[in-house]
Amino acid sequence: MEKKYNPYENFLSIMERAAGILGYEKNDYIAVCYPEREMKVACPVKMDNGEVRVFEGFRVQHSTARGPAKGGIRYHHNVNMDEVKALAAWMSFKCAIVDVPYGGGKGGIVVDPSKLSDGELERLTRSFITGIAPIIGPLKDVPAPDVGTNAQVMGWIVDQYSTLKGETQLGVVTGKPIPVGGSQGRNAATGRGVMFATMAVLEKMGIPVEGTTVVIQGMGNVGTQTARLLAEHKMKIIAVSDVTGGLYNPDGLNIPAILEHLSVRGRLLDTYSEEGAQRITNAQLLATETTVLIPAALENQITGDNAADVKAKVIVEGANGPTTVEADEILAKRGILVVPDVLSNAGGVAVSYFEWVQNLQNYYWTEEDVNAKLKDKMLSAFEAVWSISHEKNVTLRTGAYLIALKKIVEARKLRGMN
Ligand code: GLU
Repeated sequence: MEKKYNPYENFLSIMERAAGILGYEKNDYIAVCYPEREMKVACPVKMDNGEVRVFEGFRVQHSTARGPAKGGIRYHHNVNMDEVKALAAWMSFKCAIVDVPYGGGKGGIVVDPSKLSDGELERLTRSFITGIAPIIGPLKDVPAPDVGTNAQVMGWIVDQYSTLKGETQLGVVTGKPIPVGGSQGRNAATGRGVMFATMAVLEKMGIPVEGTTVVIQGMGNVGTQTARLLAEHKMKIIAVSDVTGGLYNPDGLNIPAILEHLSVRGRLLDTYSEEGAQRITNAQLLATETTVLIPAALENQITGDNAADVKAKVIVEGANGPTTVEADEILAKRGILVVPDVLSNAGGVAVSYFEWVQNLQNYYWTEEDVNAKLKDKMLSAFEAVWSISHEKNVTLRTGAYLIALKKIVEARKLRGMN
């Protein structure tokens, strides 16, 4: 994250705008400007060489007005409190938009997980969970995967928490491996949701799906699953990137071959090549001529400095917070549609909700069932955001915030919270 953008201020400024359109007084929404709880923990870990290192960990609960806090845990060297606060607030809004009965939370550890062995990662995860155990739980705050974490990490979390409690508590975390209470369809859920959002917006724009060009920034869980599903729908993925830079092929990249290459742990795009593909930088990737651009990496990628270079017709946000407020304004003026993160990447938390429901019921669903319910959630959320944005003549992001803020404020009022 570049230091000059504070993602929490980004969140506040859009929320203030939404509050104004809803005609709210400061009293109606001031509480939503502050996270309910912020926790910072020290996570001591014995490294493989015997040295004890202490990592910094955070967990923020932005809101529990609509239900338990919900949101992922990020392992990344740039994690900091402002970022975690913003990510937690976005979760409150995302859960309201996709209509799952949760508030919002997020956690993170300042660490580059690629530099740790599996054993060190496991011990770090257990140390962090011990630190935040007093504030998490199936009915308090439910973590999930995010950047730098995966189903295996969630497996360690469920074990550490259950061990501390002395009882099996599968509902304390989602995104778990299937044999320990994970849900069918959860691993691909965020990408599948991005796919539904992409299809829905193309339909509104009257653009056919088949052969339409797509550029994807980021080849983590969201980027790879999105690429796979869009390629299956015969969209033409002409550029993808990761931390090592990007690849561009105007005739369409060989997505199955790229995914196969990346399926080996530690492999990145720099060691992949294919005929007709040329290497590009991340800056060039964002400025590629394409119909759809999907930023699926980190926040603050499309900014006031490069928004004028974007040549896409529509941006579908796979990452959280990839577009700054300044960039949003430039894009809107240029007529470039943005399907906002809190809508387009909500498929992950939607299936997290399904996983949690299955855990609490101890009754498990088929993948077909999960995917059908996800489609339903994504398409109804999309329609709601689309129609309010057109009714109020605002961007899709502002429209999404209108829906979410109204639900959160209403829940607070009905509970008698200030
Ligand atoms: N980390 C994901 C997100 O940003 C998923 C959160 C969850 O499933 O709770 O939406």
